[in-house]
Amino acid sequence: MLQREEEYYASLRDGRRVFYRGELVEDVTAHPVLGKAIRHAAVDFRMAHDPAYRDLAVVSEGHDSFSRYYAVPQTAMDLKRRRDLIAEGTRLGGTVVPLIHEIGTDALFGLLEVLPDVDARYGTHYTERVRNFWTKARNHDWALAVAQTDVKGDRSRRPADQKSPDAYVRIVNRSSEGIWIRGTKVHTSVAINANWLLVLPTREMRAADQDYAVCCAVPVNAQGLTLVASPYLEHATDVWEHPLSAQHKMVETVTIFDDVFVPWDQVFLAGEWDAAGAIAKAFVEFHRFTAVSYKLPLLQALVGVASLLAEYNGIRHARHVQMALGDLVLYEMTVRSILDNAAEQGQRVASGIFRPNIPLVNLAKYHFATGLHQAFHRVQDIAGGLLVTAPSWEDWQNPQFGEWFEQAFAGHEIGGFERMAVMHLASDLVASELAAYHLVLAVHAEGSIEAERMTIVKDYPWAEAENEIRRLVRENNKYQRGLRKLTE
Ligand SMILES: Cc1cc2nc3c(=O)[nH]c(=O)nc-3n(C[C@H](O)[C@H](O)[C@H](O)COP(=O)(O)OP(=O)(O)OC[C@H]3O[C@@H](n4cnc5c(N)ncnc54)[C@H](O)[C@@H]3O)c2cc1C
Repeated sequence: MLQREEEYYASLRDGRRVFYRGELVEDVTAHPVLGKAIRHAAVDFRMAHDPAYRDLAVVSEGHDSFSRYYAVPQTAMDLKRRRDLIAEGTRLGGTVVPLIHEIGTDALFGLLEVLPDVDARYGTHYTERVRNFWTKARNHDWALAVAQTDVKGDRSRRPADQKSPDAYVRIVNRSSEGIWIRGTKVHTSVAINANWLLVLPTREMRAADQDYAVCCAVPVNAQGLTLVASPYLEHATDVWEHPLSAQHKMVETVTIFDDVFVPWDQVFLAGEWDAAGAIAKAFVEFHRFTAVSYKLPLLQALVGVASLLAEYNGIRHARHVQMALGDLVLYEMTVRSILDNAAEQGQRVASGIFRPNIPLVNLAKYHFATGLHQAFHRVQDIAGGLLVTAPSWEDWQNPQFGEWFEQAFAGHEIGGFERMAVMHLASDLVASELAAYHLVLAVHAEGSIEAERMTIVKDYPWAEAENEIRRLVRENNKYQRGLRKLTE
């Protein structure tokens, strides 16, 4: 029931159509760039079979054992264990989340929350289909990707009003056997290394958009499905210069559905347009909890690397350095505490799932996303310019320079080589392609900052705050006397 690493690799050699820099990739596991992302993601399977992580990564029910990612959270403690698993996988992944179980199960949680109401209103059987899919996915320990974000064209127009009808994925045909879908999704993380794609609507819809209200599960080797992989992060190959990104990466794709057939038992929404927004939102709320969970190792790494470099550079006692270190600690602890609180104050929703508190999970994500650029600035400040000017590994190995560099780059009670190793790690975190990826990921992935802000502000108890002001005003004697006078 728990896939082994080699079984996972074998499962990806299934005739899927993946393009990289214009060429069809025969075997994604053997590709120099895509293979790296696949080995990175396989940490989930390594953890499940490693006695050191088994309790965290695996759940047992009777004779069955399955990945904790497939355990439906029913209490705040379940959510916290899930957070711990996500954070540990990401820590082992050098601050890059594996994501092949996290995002897909977030989508399944969201569907299980919303679909019972859709079934009650439309007489459909979507919940049962999702449950069946869930059971199979759990039993096979499938890796899942989520294709929610459409290319969207002109953002001011709704799906049916776009110039190209394929700017959002839509149903183009139906039969007694199933549906055919067409269109383009984008930014689909881990699609090249997933077994299945969960297709979700990206926004609310109107009656005119009903063909776009589609949700389903598609095997990644489905006929008509093509993945065009992004080359971003392909340059990091040297583990001295890029200790994290030379070994860890995720891959996003442009995901093209060219009349992909989906049998009915894999269809979870087909035209019920007024449910599209609720599904999009329910997925995102679970996914933002995942998002902040996988940010925690990055925030801890920023504190650690800044602290070590402050020490090695001999500046720990400088006032501005202490301020910067303190700010990094406050940032890390605030994000962590809000996330903890989001789990504590969650609630049980339909299907018995325990959902994180929505305003708090958005607040955690918002606080993280709006603080990361400033946090990188603080590490850059403490580290110094060597972040981008350090000599190469080859030069360190050159007998002409090696010993010279060891002395020249020595810092406060630390040799040059060791100081430079930490400097390169800092560079990979805050001054590399990976750093830029982290920054854009913070701003855009799991939804825009404005979407998080709006959710927090909308759900604020405005009436409670206003009523308190009314009460304070009414308690004022002069106000009471004035009112009496007006009514006499
Ligand atoms: C690294 C990475 C990984 C990702 N992984 C996945 C994934 O696995 N699956 C998936 O489905 N998606 C994924 N995403 C997509 C992510 O959810 C989107 O990037 C995000 O929702 C923003 O969409 P967008 O990129 O199209 O930007 P846009 O929506 O174009 O946003 C750009 C700006 O336009 C504003 N804007 C957009 N629409 C409107 C409007 N109608 N009115 C006013 N302002 C508007 C936004 O607020 C923002 O300020 C990923 C993104 C990244 C960067």
